[in-house]
Amino acid sequence: MTIIDGKKIAKELRHAITKEVKKCSRPPGLAVILVGDDPASEIYIKNKSRACVEVGFYSDQLHKSANITQEELLSEIHRLNANKSIDGILVQLPLPAHIDSNSIIEAIRPEKDVDGFSSENVGKLMQNKPFIRPCTPKGVMSMLATLDYDLKGKDCVIIGASNIVGRPMSMELLNAGATVQICHKDTKDIVEKVRTADVIVAAAGVTHLVKEDWVKEGAVVIDVGINRLANGKLTGDVDFDAIKDKALAISPVPGGVGPMTIATLLENTLVAYKENSRRLEEDTSNN
Ligand code: NAD
Repeated sequence: MTIIDGKKIAKELRHAITKEVKKCSRPPGLAVILVGDDPASEIYIKNKSRACVEVGFYSDQLHKSANITQEELLSEIHRLNANKSIDGILVQLPLPAHIDSNSIIEAIRPEKDVDGFSSENVGKLMQNKPFIRPCTPKGVMSMLATLDYDLKGKDCVIIGASNIVGRPMSMELLNAGATVQICHKDTKDIVEKVRTADVIVAAAGVTHLVKEDWVKEGAVVIDVGINRLANGKLTGDVDFDAIKDKALAISPVPGGVGPMTIATLLENTLVAYKENSRRLEEDTSNN
């Protein structure tokens, strides 16, 4: 049994990014926008900004009042779209209810959409012509790539069908040649479905939803869930202790997918930097 050490894989990825940044003509830039005062979101963006600085990126943290209007937030996005030092724009979700999140995400230029949430980037992933890929599912693929495990023809079951995890995860696995089922809260006979899986990706946000008898012997189990217990500790959607000896490989929480999501955001910012630099060079040579 292999415990997939997301912390270690993420560290190696960050190390490789740091080396690449040293070759860049300017530091890749990431702007992170937080609206309002949600404490969890504040911690997330602080971690993202710190990770940026550590690999040598330029990081711009914009903290906006919860009363910001849709128009004001849109003009902030347009300003960052035009800023040549900024390669990636990340809007921390969720946004306050009076803001239409979808139109904010769609306003980010696709080559600066480092979360990979815009319809253009999702569409490219869907067509198996990926450009900037959503961070968490891409991070899971990087974790799976560390195993000596061919996904081609494998039966994969994803639990959770959100736009940020479950759905793009299904496309990633399909693009890797797997056969994919997506389960959600209305799925019938979920246990029977999960039991057939060679690979399980749990992303429901339900503490220890996946129990020992849900898992086939020798399955690969990836736990995306982050749930806080009454004692303050974090845990996943998978009953790790009960399942670990049965699994071929399993990711823990914490120390699994979480660190990979942030490292993949940095990786995406570097992809965006390269594309933005290429476009700038093309514009300069055309003028
Ligand atoms: P979400 O609430 O948007 O979606 C949850 C999905 O799970 C839905 O499709 C829902 O139908 C399904 N679901 C809920 N209860 C279920 C049940 N009992 N059985 C089967 N399906 C069920 O959540 P999300 O944003 O996709 O996040 C899911 C989990 O992953 C959360 O715990 C979140 O904190 C975590 N997450 C972790 C990372 C990371 O970096 N590790 C990133 C994003 C989300």
